Amino acid sequence: MLLPLLAFAAAAALPADSTTWVVDNHGRRAGDLVVVTRGDTTVARWVFTDRNRGTRVETRHVTRDGRWVAGEARPVLADGTAGDPTERYEVSGDSLRTSVGRGNPIAFALAPGAFVAVRGGTPFEQAALARHLLARPDRRAPVAGGPAARAEVIADTTLRLGAQRVRARLVMLYRGAAAYPTGIWLDDRGELLATDVQWFITVREGREALLPALRAIELRWRDVQAEALAKRLVTPTAGTIAIVNGDLFDAEAGVMRPRQTVIVRGDRIVAVGSADAVPVPAGATVIDAAGKTVMPGMWDMHGHLQVSSQGGIGAVQLANGITTVRDLASDIDIATSFRDREAQGKLAGPRAVLAGFIEGPLAWAGPSGSIARDEAEARRWVQRYAELGYKQIKLYNVVHPDLVPTIAAEAKRQGMRLSGHIPRGMSIEAAVALGFDEIQHAAFFFSNFFPDSLYLPRMRAYSQVATAVAPTFDVDAPGMTKLLEFLKAKGTTVDGTFNLWIGGGGALVGAGGSPDQQKADSAYMRLIRRLYAMGIPLVAGTDNFASTTYRRELEMYELAGIPQARILQIATIEAARFLREERDYGSVSAGKVADLLIVNGAPATRIGDLAKLETVIRGGRLYKVADLAAAQMSRGANGAEGFAWDDHDDHDDP
Ligand SMILES: [Zn+2]
Repeated sequence: MLLPLLAFAAAAALPADSTTWVVDNHGRRAGDLVVVTRGDTTVARWVFTDRNRGTRVETRHVTRDGRWVAGEARPVLADGTAGDPTERYEVSGDSLRTSVGRGNPIAFALAPGAFVAVRGGTPFEQAALARHLLARPDRRAPVAGGPAARAEVIADTTLRLGAQRVRARLVMLYRGAAAYPTGIWLDDRGELLATDVQWFITVREGREALLPALRAIELRWRDVQAEALAKRLVTPTAGTIAIVNGDLFDAEAGVMRPRQTVIVRGDRIVAVGSADAVPVPAGATVIDAAGKTVMPGMWDMHGHLQVSSQGGIGAVQLANGITTVRDLASDIDIATSFRDREAQGKLAGPRAVLAGFIEGPLAWAGPSGSIARDEAEARRWVQRYAELGYKQIKLYNVVHPDLVPTIAAEAKRQGMRLSGHIPRGMSIEAAVALGFDEIQHAAFFFSNFFPDSLYLPRMRAYSQVATAVAPTFDVDAPGMTKLLEFLKAKGTTVDGTFNLWIGGGGALVGAGGSPDQQKADSAYMRLIRRLYAMGIPLVAGTDNFASTTYRRELEMYELAGIPQARILQIATIEAARFLREERDYGSVSAGKVADLLIVNGAPATRIGDLAKLETVIRGGRLYKVADLAAAQMSRGANGAEGFAWDDHDDHDDP
């Protein structure tokens, strides 16, 4: 059944019977969601700009007897027209026919009371799901084509908006066994009021002023959930922990020391030495690590804290051996709250070290409110971050190059490191000459040599230029040699996030992919080798929220020929030194904070053995990886156990 076409002629005036929501990017309008209903057909169009990309989707639904009986999703093309359907569904009786792309329709039996909609939808569909669940006696329902869902109303309040009073209900949606719910705000008629706290929030036009109040309510609830989760995840100890007979990786020296004992009291390591020499205190919690590796916790030097970091993602990071994450862009309230409450032991996650994000005011501006339009504003941002205890400043794509000297000077004055994406229109050499201590993303080493390609034949992101040129790029060319010698002389650090660029961010090196991808992989591998051979410092980072690709990042260094012990030093003590924290962190030494791992394998010989991580100690708090993994399972929607927390790790590249 073909759906009647409700044409959204590009840029035409919106039909009278349309409803509009704003897509908010930190007070800037990034796009909108427009819903139009004509007769039995409703069309929702959700289009917003997120840097050089964004979301452009249109959904349609036909309603009969109050329920959706047919629908489709289509991309919104650059000219504003709708492209070919990416998915379709049609209900007849108790059966459902769905098709994806040009695939043949598949028929399913429809479970009674099931919610039916397109899967790749918009907040409009999410609000419809919430309404559907709230209408059910137990607020649960099967969802066609996906895991069952459950709704929970966690706030029902009335907010003042000028002379008006607006009712707002926050509904948490649990999908399948997912432990972490997504939230949706409904108004007094059960219509979408706003989506939950994210970088981009969709909110009813004219209700934007309610966002701070909605945010406060949601975060208060999330904070309580997170602290309860943290209590569930930590393994109680006697306060003193004795790890005996383990083979210790001495990060300072880069060697293994067999059969050592490590004593932890409170949040500090108090003794390290041969198992024969170090006594076990009476009453200590004893962990026998015979045949296992005891090593410092690792540092993900390219992270992004999210609201969900406290709600389970942090636990995934611990399960990946990350005891310190350097945050390189996130909302200030989210980042500082996570950092401070984790430090107080209230959250299950890595310790957070913060870098302050600064961006320019253009259409491709990143998802942040930290916009610098002029020197004074740029300086104020650096000062604010310094006051909030940030250690570093991280610049983004459309910061005006003329602002770099001002930012660099103020960052130096505040004792902060400076790094970032290379601002558009600037070269790596200029950025470093003006004060960058560090460069994010190896792809810049390729786009650097094609400055005009950022603009010609069309506006492109550095990553798109790098993808285009990497397959044919000669990493041994004189230009690259000159650049690397310059960086060596300047002592510049490279946060390559190679896991993003090699294998298209998917499979390991050379394990498939197009011929061009394989050639690009070899170029990136050659770059790792050259950086290491020239002694240019590397820091290991994932750029994904849950650090699930951290081991892969290290495995690429291993494949590039960097010795395993050196790789573990990069992941631990060297990261601590970059952030001037080696006095308290980075190695298993008496006096330092107890951030350490017990691995049932030999990562100093085989990086892949990091997958055999069993125990994590963060600030003296003991976690079993099995518990951390189990925490991702919960009695979400269907009460059944099931592995819920799929890798929420879409890299976001800020
Ligand atoms: Zn990033």
